[in-house]
Amino acid sequence: TQASTHQDPPCFKLVIVGDGGTGKTTFVKRHLTGEFEKRYERKNMNTTQLNNNLINFSFCFSDSDSDSFSNNRRGSSSAGLLHELWEDQVQLLGHCWSGEIRWTPRRIHGQCAIIMFDVTARLTYKNVPTWHRDLCRVCDNIPIVLCGNKVDVKNRQVKAKQVTFHRKKNLQYYEISAKSNYNFEKPFLYLARKLAGNVDLRFVESPALAPPEVQIDMAAQAQHESELEKAAAQPLPDED
Ligand code: GDP
Repeated sequence: TQASTHQDPPCFKLVIVGDGGTGKTTFVKRHLTGEFEKRYERKNMNTTQLNNNLINFSFCFSDSDSDSFSNNRRGSSSAGLLHELWEDQVQLLGHCWSGEIRWTPRRIHGQCAIIMFDVTARLTYKNVPTWHRDLCRVCDNIPIVLCGNKVDVKNRQVKAKQVTFHRKKNLQYYEISAKSNYNFEKPFLYLARKLAGNVDLRFVESPALAPPEVQIDMAAQAQHESELEKAAAQPLPDED
């Protein structure tokens, strides 16, 4: 064996699921390459077999200043590199790629997940329990973040206080807007903390991102966030 202090940092795979059109690709591309997906092809929105994007997000922890992980060893053309620095000197590097991968349980080896819906399309929220159920069938007891995307849009169909699913299932929920970068880092931070078992893990640098494509109305969003907080203090509505 070679005398080397070099150690592969642990890698965790992040699975992102959600109905087609909710913004999964957009979200990931913000982080990875700074590119923004402007082109959009409507993909079989009427069929139940929705497009499933599987993103492998490898969190790599190492306390050395290791650039050796900058090659995407799993080689995907759409891949990019997410590179963050954490306060406790732990370097986090992520290799991410996204692609259309058919939903076959055996292929999913996610260690953490994001379920995404679109706050401007009620149906995408209605489908969240199905995504959650499918995810739980194949990934046992992993940290999951629910993300309501496109909160930059004025006419939301899913109001913050109507989002209750995460409370039933003990998931973390974030309102995000991939196009404006609003809260983009929150899901990653939450998952990294869970995976590292360190609640004090913090960003020390902002990740390089594409400039916002839209501006978010911060006053309106603050209102949504406070409604969300108020709703969290209320008992869950009796549905089942
Ligand atoms: P996917 O099918 O889940 O991967 O969704 P896409 O990333 O392809 O996004 C679907 C459409 O939603 C595209 O037209 C995006 O430009 C748009 N989109 C994605 N994120 C946002 C957002 O945060 N705000 C707004 N207004 N549009 C978004």
